[in-house]
Amino acid sequence: MQTCRERSDDQAHIHRRGFLEVGAGAAAAGMALGTTQLAGAQAQAEKKAPEKPLAKRMLGRTGVEVSMLNLGTWRSVGLDRILRFAWAHGIRYVDTAKSYGSEPAIGRWLQSDASIRKQLFLVTKDHPNTPSEMIKKLDERLASLQTDYVDLIFIHAVGDHDIKTEIEWPKSKEFKETAEAIRKSGKAKFVGFSTHHPRRPEILQAAVEGGFVDAIMLQNNPWMAQEDAMNRALDACHKAGIGLISMKQVAGNVKLADIAARLPELKEKKLSPYQGLLHAIWTDERFSSCCVSMRNTDQVRENAAAARTFSPLTKAQMDAIRDACVAAGPTLCSGCDGRCSVAAGTTAELGNLTRFLTYHDHHGYRGEARRLYAEMTDDARDWKCADLEAARHACPSNLDFASLLPRADKVLG
Ligand code: SF4
Repeated sequence: MQTCRERSDDQAHIHRRGFLEVGAGAAAAGMALGTTQLAGAQAQAEKKAPEKPLAKRMLGRTGVEVSMLNLGTWRSVGLDRILRFAWAHGIRYVDTAKSYGSEPAIGRWLQSDASIRKQLFLVTKDHPNTPSEMIKKLDERLASLQTDYVDLIFIHAVGDHDIKTEIEWPKSKEFKETAEAIRKSGKAKFVGFSTHHPRRPEILQAAVEGGFVDAIMLQNNPWMAQEDAMNRALDACHKAGIGLISMKQVAGNVKLADIAARLPELKEKKLSPYQGLLHAIWTDERFSSCCVSMRNTDQVRENAAAARTFSPLTKAQMDAIRDACVAAGPTLCSGCDGRCSVAAGTTAELGNLTRFLTYHDHHGYRGEARRLYAEMTDDARDWKCADLEAARHACPSNLDFASLLPRADKVLG
C-alpha cells in the first residue's frame, strides 16, 4: 500500500517558512527604499563589519570542516542580497541544486569577488537517470555556477523516482565508479546524495555497505532521529565516516508564540523558539551541518546568532522542546515512513494532504499547494474511511488529522 508518496524536489524544499515570518517587514522596508539604493547601502555595511566565520564541524572522513549552519537556496527571492548578508554573518557553506533556480545568482556572486570561492564550501545537486549520468550533469552545474569545481555534488533525492532501483545506488558499482571518476577529475571534491524518502534508513545502510559515498544530506529532525531504524542508520554512517547534513528538520508548522510560552527557559537564555530548535539539531554531533532556507536578512541574523550561541542541550531540554512543539499543534508532516496511513487503514496520503495544506495556509504557496493536490490520485486524496484518531496516535508529530483534513478538502479541492 502506498502511503505518504515520495515528494518532488519542489515539495521537499518547502519547509520552515512558517517559522519565521518576521522578515516581511524588513522586505517591505527594502522595497520602500529602492532596490539599488538598499543593495548599495547593505553591500557597504556588509563590507564594513564582516563577522568571523561561524563554527565549523568536520564533514565525515573528508578532512574538510564545514559551517555548522548552511544556506539553503531553494527558489530564494533576492538571493544576491541574501548571499552577501549570509557571508557577512559568517556562513561559508551554500547549498543549491539544478532545480532550485539559484545557481545563476550564486555564479554572479562568485564572479564578483574571487576570494569568495576559496573560502566557500559549495554544494549542488542534480537528478541523473543512472549514476553515471552525473559526470555530464556535473559539467552543466559548473557552467551554471560559473566555477571550475564544487566541493560536493549530490545525486538529488535518491529514492524519489524509482525506489526499487535507486535504493541500490549507494552500493552499486556504477555509482562507485562514477564517484571515483568525478573526484579524480577535480570537478567535485566529494560525492554523495540527498534523500528524504521514507525508506532512508535502508538507503543510508546501503551507503555504509557501499563504502564510497563521502556525504549524505537527509531529512531529519531531532525527534525523528530517535526512531530505532533511523538511529542505527545514522550511527552506522557516522562510524563509517560518511558526513551527515541535516535538512528539513522542522517538526511542523507550529506556533512560535505557543512554544515560547511553554518554554520560558528559552527566553532566559535569550533564544527564540527557532534558535532552540537549531540548538536541538546541533546537539546531535553526528550531523556536521544543518541546511536552512533563509529568505530574508532577519532569518540569516537569527540563525547565525543561534550558531554563535550554541551549546549542547541536555536530554531534559531536548524533551521539553519536543513536547512544546507537539503541544503547539503542528500542521506539517515532518516525513517518516507513512505510518499514519497504515494505522488509519487507508491508501490516502495523509502526510501529503497535511503538507499541502500547510503550504497553502502558512507558507504562502497557495497555487503550488493546489497544483500538488490536483496531481494526487483520487485514492491518495480520499481519507473519508480512515481512522483519523489512530493516524494521530501513530504520527510522531501528533498531527490533528480530524481538523486538518476537512480543511484540506475545502481549500485545496
Ligand atoms: S506519521 Fe506523521 S510524520 Fe509520518 S508520514 Fe504521517 S503525517 Fe508525516
